[in-house]
Amino acid sequence: MTVYEIPAEAIPVARAYVYHGEWVADCPRPPGSDGRPVCGGVEFLFTPSRMNGPRDRRRDFYLCSNCGMQSGIDWPGNELPIMVVLMLRPVPDTRNWYPRDHPVAVNFGLEHGQTVVDLMEENEIHGVDCTPVRGMA
Ligand SMILES: [Zn+2]
Repeated sequence: MTVYEIPAEAIPVARAYVYHGEWVADCPRPPGSDGRPVCGGVEFLFTPSRMNGPRDRRRDFYLCSNCGMQSGIDWPGNELPIMVVLMLRPVPDTRNWYPRDHPVAVNFGLEHGQTVVDLMEENEIHGVDCTPVRGMA
């Protein structure tokens, strides 16, 4: 039997980002060599632990409801501080964060790779008080 090693960088991984106050990830399925485009699916990375409850249970792996792709999830190491600072913002549409060089952010000219300090500064520019979480950064 021949065992083929797949280089780690060639294994698709879903990259977590925050969109409108929710951790989500785009389907990491690569385009097919047959010309099939990327999937385009997006999934919430937290699911409700009870029917009609809040999305409070963190997924262990990515599962695309569009194409069935499964993969690991690349979470930032500071997931909690990012969300705490974003949740200070009163308007949910403004609670967004993308990891560095995320293709969605790059394509749409959005900020990416912001630190928690960057997010706090952005908050304060818009009059959102970060005093309660200042020690988190
Ligand atoms: Zn998919």
